[in-house]
Amino acid sequence: MSGAVRIPQFDATRDEGAFKEALKAKAGEVIESGVFILGPEVACFEEEVARYLQVKHALAVSSGTDALVMALMALGIGPGDEVIVPTYTFFATAGSVARLGATPVFVDSSPCCFNVSVEAVQAALTPRTRAIIPVHLFGQAADLEPLLKLAQERGIAVIEDAAQAIGATYQGKPVGGHGTMGCFSFYPTKTLGGFGEGGLVTTHDDALAARLRILRNHGMEKTYEHVLVGGNFRMHALQGALLRLRLPRLPDLIEKRRRHAAHYRRLFLDSGLAADPVSRCVCGQGVDAALPDVPLLLPFTCNDPHTFNQFTLRVRGGRRDDLRAYLAARGIGTAVYYPRPLHQQPCFQGIPSANSSLPRAEAMAAEALSLPMFAELREDEVDQVARAVVEFFK
Ligand SMILES: *Cc1c(COP(=O)(O)O)cnc(C)c1O
Repeated sequence: MSGAVRIPQFDATRDEGAFKEALKAKAGEVIESGVFILGPEVACFEEEVARYLQVKHALAVSSGTDALVMALMALGIGPGDEVIVPTYTFFATAGSVARLGATPVFVDSSPCCFNVSVEAVQAALTPRTRAIIPVHLFGQAADLEPLLKLAQERGIAVIEDAAQAIGATYQGKPVGGHGTMGCFSFYPTKTLGGFGEGGLVTTHDDALAARLRILRNHGMEKTYEHVLVGGNFRMHALQGALLRLRLPRLPDLIEKRRRHAAHYRRLFLDSGLAADPVSRCVCGQGVDAALPDVPLLLPFTCNDPHTFNQFTLRVRGGRRDDLRAYLAARGIGTAVYYPRPLHQQPCFQGIPSANSSLPRAEAMAAEALSLPMFAELREDEVDQVARAVVEFFK
């Protein structure tokens, strides 16, 4: 059997021809304009994406990671401060906190979806807590309402890490507009994939928006007058110009992902190998129901519809890595998001919460397998992937 990849986990080259031509023409325009950093294209993108996200301010920045760093900087978070983060997320969620000298406090996941447990967040609050960073992991909104309530009672901030969830909603309203600030990424694998690095910070707060704008450009208010220590967090003009072309397509791109997910779901349920981990969302309740005794747990949709930046199964019985190798041998790409929760990362040893046992996230790290998922994936490819998974268990 050839090891060549026939169905990649992600493919950034499959845009339709006419759209690719529009991108090339726009890139040519930007090159001719001589404006390469921020400029009118980025300003227009900010306006358009703010409208789409229903937020007052949207600031285009250099990456999703920088968006998080800037959000924390705008709040003045630093040494002695604690910020509560899920342990089961991409590194940047906690790395941004540690880089500013503050302490990430790692908490466990919900029993039903891959998002943070509200109960665990509540238990981790201390007088030093300055912010909570819920992550809308894999394109599914975290259970924000109880988190916003906890934060409001204590006068602390909620920074939504919406890097994987542009276009997702919570209680019908786009994510990124519920908390104090929202952070997005345009890394190519994200649902609104960019053309290189890029990110966005959103807020309804005028004062925070003004601070973020200054921080983005080395804390400079007037030319060479630095009122804050910021950084170079500016977006490239080319990025803004090309994202402007892709943004109107986003609802359709999300719809396609949802269709693929529904198709996977149907095929796995029909196979008898899979079930939802729970019958209803228990995010805020912290109750660990017994997981169904099946080889595959499906991604569970809590609250609002999932946008499936990733379609992530839980492969039970210690067979995840074998299934992954089996699929790879058949030319099917998969990814493991994430093999090691953050509280177990070498760089965080020594942080108090790194010594805790966070069993749900540890189980997820051992079981998670993300199947091929991108808008341009074809239905027959979804069939082939699901068939290969089912064959593995025969
Ligand atoms: C991708 C990602 C980031 C960082 O975004 P970059 O643009 O890659 O810097 C932050 N948090 C989460 C959850 C992500 O998935």
